[in-house]
Amino acid sequence: MSKKYVYLFTEGNASMRELLGGKGANLAEMTNLGLPVPQGFTISTEACTQYYEDGRRINDEIQAEIMEYIEKMEQITGKKFGDQENPLLVSVRSGARASMPGMMDTILNLGLNEDVVEVMAKKSGNPRWAYDCYRRFIQMYSDVVMEVGKKYFEQLIDAMKVKKGVTQDVELTADDLKELANQFKAEYKEKIGEDFPYDPKEQLMGAIKAVFRSWDNPRANVYRRDNDIPYSWGTAVNVQMMAFGNMGETSGTGVAFTRNPSTGEKVLTGEFLMNAQGEDVVAGVRTPQHIDQLKEVMPEVYEQFVGICNTLENHYRDMQDMEFTIEDKHLYMLQTRNGKRTPAAALKIACDLIDEGMIDEKQAVLMIEPRNLDALLHPQFDVKALKAATPVAKALAASPGAACGKIVFTAEDAKVWNEKGEKVVLVRLETSPEDIEGMKAAQGILTVRGGMTSHAAVVARGMGTCCVSGCSAITMDEENKKFELAGKTYHEGDCISIDGSTGNIYDGLIPTVPASVNSGDFGRIMGLADKFRQMKVRTNADTPQNAIDAKRLGAEGIGLCRTEHMFFDPDRIAAIREMICADTVEGRKAALAKLEPMQQGDFEKLYETMEGEPVNIRFLDPPLHEFVPTEEADIELLAKSTGKTVEQVKAIISGLHEFNPMMGHRGCRLAVTYPEIAEMQTSAVIKAALNVSAKHPDWNIVPEIMIPLVGEVKELAYVKGVVTATADKLIAEAGSSMTYKVGTMIEIPRAALTADEIAKEAEYFSFGTNDLTQMTFGFSRDDAGKFLGAYYDKKIYENDPFAKLDQVGVGKLVKMACELGKSTRPDIKLGICGEHGGDPTSVEFCHNVGLTYVSCSPFRVPIARLAAAQAAIKAPRAMDK
Ligand code: PEP
Ligand code: MG
Repeated sequence: MSKKYVYLFTEGNASMRELLGGKGANLAEMTNLGLPVPQGFTISTEACTQYYEDGRRINDEIQAEIMEYIEKMEQITGKKFGDQENPLLVSVRSGARASMPGMMDTILNLGLNEDVVEVMAKKSGNPRWAYDCYRRFIQMYSDVVMEVGKKYFEQLIDAMKVKKGVTQDVELTADDLKELANQFKAEYKEKIGEDFPYDPKEQLMGAIKAVFRSWDNPRANVYRRDNDIPYSWGTAVNVQMMAFGNMGETSGTGVAFTRNPSTGEKVLTGEFLMNAQGEDVVAGVRTPQHIDQLKEVMPEVYEQFVGICNTLENHYRDMQDMEFTIEDKHLYMLQTRNGKRTPAAALKIACDLIDEGMIDEKQAVLMIEPRNLDALLHPQFDVKALKAATPVAKALAASPGAACGKIVFTAEDAKVWNEKGEKVVLVRLETSPEDIEGMKAAQGILTVRGGMTSHAAVVARGMGTCCVSGCSAITMDEENKKFELAGKTYHEGDCISIDGSTGNIYDGLIPTVPASVNSGDFGRIMGLADKFRQMKVRTNADTPQNAIDAKRLGAEGIGLCRTEHMFFDPDRIAAIREMICADTVEGRKAALAKLEPMQQGDFEKLYETMEGEPVNIRFLDPPLHEFVPTEEADIELLAKSTGKTVEQVKAIISGLHEFNPMMGHRGCRLAVTYPEIAEMQTSAVIKAALNVSAKHPDWNIVPEIMIPLVGEVKELAYVKGVVTATADKLIAEAGSSMTYKVGTMIEIPRAALTADEIAKEAEYFSFGTNDLTQMTFGFSRDDAGKFLGAYYDKKIYENDPFAKLDQVGVGKLVKMACELGKSTRPDIKLGICGEHGGDPTSVEFCHNVGLTYVSCSPFRVPIARLAAAQAAIKAPRAMDK
């Protein structure tokens, strides 16, 4: 039997989301629950992947099956495409496995042509409605299917409004809309060179293709990369009988959440517009009414809707985000899905659902998206400064958090300014999906139009970016990059602050403070995460402040201290430069002796902060040329302090030049050439540990010394020899019984391949997946950004391998090294300290290959804790159950 690509809503259910996409699976599930769903069919995600395999065409087999389902749909609905009596109109919507709001395309009112519109106008006695549908359809089809830019049509609407002396679309009459439809068709013909398609089936094939194509549009690609959604999934397409919200004042459309998506509170939240179609609510063209007002406008419909909300929430056991349409007092459900929510709301909802007995603790941990926690870890306005400030305006609190920065007016500017290191607030009339990258770059988003479910609000909430929307007090002049608010003109670059939790807008910059994470719902969920996870979470910290931040966020030790970062202070850099210029071992030792007490002091602070938790100190790693002066004045200074001529210093500097410094004289190679560096660093670590242990006898400090960039066991053995000779002597002199460990980074492929040998010397491994990725791929971690864009465009890579671990290649080395390491030393401790240690999918991989801990930057510690818990819940490890 040939493969089935198309399913009626009556043939599916919620468990089929891989095949039918989220929207399709839920439309089927709602149909099964007996809810009022306009009927239709779903073309599967496999049809989408087939479309790409066939070179972006819908093959004959799938086309034939779609045609068959159109007939089935016609039978079910009793309507027919292009019929002169009872015409069928449909919506065509995308629906991927994971929801990607606003990223792909939708077409409404499909099936209209100049004859069908006449039938509809006559039969309904409502020509205004019929022509409103028609002009919307031409506009959407032209934009989405034929990619004739929306703006040409918007200009025609604006011109018509001016001509008629009105300001709102709803004030245009049937004749105005009919004329507009004709203008739109003429515009279409001019841009495309052909007449607007008349045959509804041809229209439908065009629309389906457009939805498949939209899976690959730039904004969808960016969204997928950010949300770890594989390109290979494809999108399904839903073809559904239209329900009309624009038939007059007894019709309407809306979006609602069963709980507040900003705060998580258990109250029905949402908005609707009477006499409107779906995109009017989301596009923010008119400001909608609150869902509660539906109670007054249409009490029975409101009651029915509330009942459906309860049914759906109890059924899915999660907060639902629903779209509905009222067609002449009849309620239709167009969509339900687990709603996107702010990170704070996600925590509250998860906790409330446990307390309501709807879910268990593990389900609660699993329902929080780890990467979204990030937003909660970022600053809020300083309460005192906020109290002293007076808002200049208030609008909708669309996505919580605090933001202040310089005003920019376009998404492009937001990106460019952000890259220059400026903090910006993006101020727009309204945002559209093309703005996504600019929205990401902005600290906050302020829009003039749009409600809580406008594009800006929905997308900002998903990103955890602060957003205030619908500020109609602003008189906007986007073209000249200025606006007026409360009697003041704001230009590009002026400062503004916005509070996405209250909707307040302030003139100027209000200082911010870090958020609190150890109490309330956050604390409770983190507590649960800690209960279920099997890996430890450490932090990468180079300074005591890093360590303090990380500890507050739950770090259980330091997994990587990059000691070289301590060398850049002005008083230290001089000593290291002297060391580099020294001609003799004695000269180098003298310079290093100046550094030793400073390093020791730094390490003492780290040990103090971590209160006995493990601290893993890595020895000097970067090539020495990173420390030498480039400015003439600094070179002269160095010459003077070392008693050399400027020429001699310059000769030393140029002697350090390497063609491939990242594969050059760095890592343990420095200690092999200059063992005195390792001696000094060992001495600083051991003395610091002895001092702090003496002050805190109850802390069990076991120093960890990590040798970087090892590729051969003998080089590790050599450096380890230097370390142990120095350390043992100091410990013996102090009369102490302190123990310590010498481990290594596994960051060179050869180290991974010979990990059984390396483990004879190394007491622990930490995977340096930054270098391991660089050296496995053979491209530079510093330069890959220049060409990775082309690799994403060509679908060679879907993600940045420096951000998300390449499990296929680099991961294979990691797994192999773990197994080899354990074969030599069964109880070997295994960690990771590359950037991947804070990336949720990479953390899951680390759990699955049996690492003891992950180490990540301080602000990613909670993310790693949660990701580790989710990995453990999904696949508990037998060995440490
Ligand atoms: C690594 O290579 O993954 C690592 C942690 O070391 P660095 O980034 O300092 O090279
Ligand atoms: Mg490295």
